Amino acid sequence: MGLLNVIGNWFDQRYEKRVEYSKEQGVCPECQGKGFSMHGSEMYMLNSYLDCGGCSGSGLYTDWVETNY
Ligand SMILES: [Zn+2]
Repeated sequence: MGLLNVIGNWFDQRYEKRVEYSKEQGVCPECQGKGFSMHGSEMYMLNSYLDCGGCSGSGLYTDWVETNY
């Protein structure tokens, strides 16, 4: 097993835990129910945030599932 595989597995496990937790809470794993992504907010104005691509801005786990499965 190469180093990349080790790192990949680590991310997979973290991702699965986050998805599992989000499912229990009923929120989108990508934005944690906020409905928007804050990625890059350090570089832009705070009001430039984008609707979350995972849930189309609803913040709901059910919408995230529909978008991703
Ligand atoms: Zn979302």
